[in-house]
Amino acid sequence: MLLIGNGPTITRDENNPFLPDGCVAVDGALIAEVGDTAEMKGKYPGARFLDAERNIIMPGFINGHTHFYSTFSRGMPGKYPPAQNFAEVLDRLWWKLDKALTLEGVYYSAITALVDCVKNGCTTVIDHHASPLHVAGSLFEIEKAARLAGIRASLCYEVSDRDGAEIMKQGIKENVDFIDHAARSQDDRVAGMFGLHASVTLSDETLALCREAMGDRDAGYHVHVAEGPADQEDSEAKYKKRVVERFRDFGITGGKSLFIHCIHLNDKELDVIGQTGTAIIHNPESNMGNAVGCAPLLKICERDILTGLGTDGYVSDMLQSYKMANALQKHHNKHPNVAWGEIPTMLFENNAKICARYFKTPVGKLAAGYSGDVIVSDYNPPTPLSDANINGHLLFGTEGRSVVATVAAGKVLMRDRRLTELDEKAIFAKAREVGAKVWEAV
Ligand SMILES: [Zn+2]
Repeated sequence: MLLIGNGPTITRDENNPFLPDGCVAVDGALIAEVGDTAEMKGKYPGARFLDAERNIIMPGFINGHTHFYSTFSRGMPGKYPPAQNFAEVLDRLWWKLDKALTLEGVYYSAITALVDCVKNGCTTVIDHHASPLHVAGSLFEIEKAARLAGIRASLCYEVSDRDGAEIMKQGIKENVDFIDHAARSQDDRVAGMFGLHASVTLSDETLALCREAMGDRDAGYHVHVAEGPADQEDSEAKYKKRVVERFRDFGITGGKSLFIHCIHLNDKELDVIGQTGTAIIHNPESNMGNAVGCAPLLKICERDILTGLGTDGYVSDMLQSYKMANALQKHHNKHPNVAWGEIPTMLFENNAKICARYFKTPVGKLAAGYSGDVIVSDYNPPTPLSDANINGHLLFGTEGRSVVATVAAGKVLMRDRRLTELDEKAIFAKAREVGAKVWEAV
């Protein structure tokens, strides 16, 4: 038994949202009980005690969409003329970088990103991967890294026509192989989805092949949707349909599918997403950085579409995404009082609901039966803290690197900002060597 106590505790459990001096008892991989520190210490006298030292105790964060391989873009020298639009961002950056990845590059970009997750208190991640010249086995390399880092991960491979039929077919096979492998794994630490790049790089023939390969597997599709305007222009020109109508017609929508971005959608498409139970992931920093526009989040939330928050490979810090999403909606809607409720709901409730579609073990709450994913954040509130103003304190007073301790599935991964299981310096030194080789190949 592990106790994490002695701090204000934010549980995200509606029956017991806030304890001024809380303590979480974790038995094996699951939370057994949440109560007051003195009470828990009395009840479990032999338990290990992780002292939060009056810092905030809360559930580990969840990232709804990222790309681990983007780690190797950090500081990458620009070999090509600067991109003038989003299509050129893909062509001159991401599609050059992902082709330079070997399986070693896949592993080291993933393990460093996953260490960064631990250091930012993020304990569950949904990733979308591409390494077109080394497709076979790539998801299994990422799984190895996720297991070593102690992070729960949903993985998929992005199928696309951009590199020809052979690589497209390898992508389909990697998805199916990994979905079946993850379904057989008993410990619920990994899940597989069927990854697709975006409508603009997927022909009707390819979508039909994907649908056929998926068969009756209930894994869901993970796909970028109307990120830039080109996705819609291409779909309307080639197929006389909007992107979401096209995906619906191929059976890509549904209660297991994740539609990423959803910026350039009309009302009818939003209705289809709502009616089919498809979930959306919003990635504000990426959208601003790529200058692709702002998702119509207020309209999306009016329709009761399950919408979560991701980082799209920019960072592993969900609080950075939280801050960006908050400011972006106010800026875009030219109103200082919008989205105060919607954004925290996405991060603190919906990301967990989305994970419940892929993992059996519930995450995102400090409550009995939930995964023992508990973090401690260095924060001393300068004003009163209660269940009524938690989200404001987190928004304006904390960041990912405020996290001083990370526990995932009952295992202490970081304490006093030092990894307990891994040699971080050695991993990053090796990653820099591998990264240099990847840059040479870009
Ligand atoms: Zn993405």
